Amino acid sequence: MIAANNSALQSWVEVKPESDFPIQNLPFGIFKTENLTPRVGVAIGEYIIDLKSLHVLGYFSNLSFTLSDFDSVYLNPIIQRGKTATRELRERLSALLQDSNKELQGKEHHVNQCLIKQNKAKMLLPVDIRDYTDFYSSIEHATNVGTMFRDPNNALLPNWKHLPVGYHGRASSIIVSGQNFHRPKGQQKPNETEPPVFGPSKLLDFELEMAFITYPGKELGESISTDEADDFIFGLCLFNDWSARDIQKWEYVPLGPFLAKSFASSMSPWVVPLDAFEPFRIDGPKQDVEVLPYLKSNGAKNIDIKLEVAIQPENSKESVVCNSNFKYMYWNMNQQLAHHTANGCNISTGDMLASGTISGPTPDSYGSMLELSWRGSKPLKLNDGSERKFINDLDTVIMRGHATNGSTRIGFGEVKSKVLPAK
Ligand code: MN
Repeated sequence: MIAANNSALQSWVEVKPESDFPIQNLPFGIFKTENLTPRVGVAIGEYIIDLKSLHVLGYFSNLSFTLSDFDSVYLNPIIQRGKTATRELRERLSALLQDSNKELQGKEHHVNQCLIKQNKAKMLLPVDIRDYTDFYSSIEHATNVGTMFRDPNNALLPNWKHLPVGYHGRASSIIVSGQNFHRPKGQQKPNETEPPVFGPSKLLDFELEMAFITYPGKELGESISTDEADDFIFGLCLFNDWSARDIQKWEYVPLGPFLAKSFASSMSPWVVPLDAFEPFRIDGPKQDVEVLPYLKSNGAKNIDIKLEVAIQPENSKESVVCNSNFKYMYWNMNQQLAHHTANGCNISTGDMLASGTISGPTPDSYGSMLELSWRGSKPLKLNDGSERKFINDLDTVIMRGHATNGSTRIGFGEVKSKVLPAK
């Protein structure tokens, strides 16, 4: 049992019941303000606790962290310290923020220095991501795509239930929530009998995903087992893995996704420690084809995290278009990491491994417009009366996610980005 997860804990910092950031969460991010340089912070209620200032004031004197670990534009230095260290850090923060603890609470000038309102801060890209891998691990999503583009009777390719299919994505174009991007341009072949054309994508889509960030891995040539995998996962974030469906359809044969994916992917600014989700573990779907021994995983390894996607047209209110759940994943994170390293591939501090689009069993739980509008054949009606088959210019796509058991709610806030017109 992780002490910081105790659902009975209360903080002296006000946390509203609907907040994603109770004392049991303590997600890490990088923030700055008008007066403060970029640094490590942790969300609590509507506030951020400034870890650099806490360190300077001596509140971490029993921990192994240095000032430069917190006086950093990325979380990588603290992730580099490994699971034991970051667990101790979370436990220490939990203690300092508990209502029964007077160490910090009792010193008003320290509180004023260390607690910053989230609405006064700007959140920055939290991790220097060196490598980004995207999986394709939702059976509902893979089945929907296979049904649409191949054969409804053989929607899954022969390898799908034997290994978590993935590819190497582009790390440099991962952006943080709040950052906008321009509609990508590229080659498309809208007409079977005509040559390809070049121009702005007409079929821009979101992909509802979760991603995890890794601790330092093992040496090149070594593998991480499914049982070891939890010790190599620092935390999770929301992830919108934007896709240009028309560019993708033409370019992906035979090597897979390329320019249809590499223009942008959006991540939430808060990375929630894997530890915080331990109370929300749940069995995954039954894997009805027996997997090879290196992919067998023990215990409940899925996580019950409710997910939603909303589209907000310019100067209009948002419409929720999807309600899904991370628990639907056919392949869990432990299997993904074991598979990724089965060949001896090394992972590094701050690598990102994303789930792939998370679709559920019902049409309102599909995690992409491709599926929600069934390839454009069923336009979605938004609250403002407009219709969408895919994403329009100036639309903002917002994703949210949280786990809850009635008493504790562990969430991410949101990841949102607006699509600007093509350059
Ligand atoms: Mn993806």
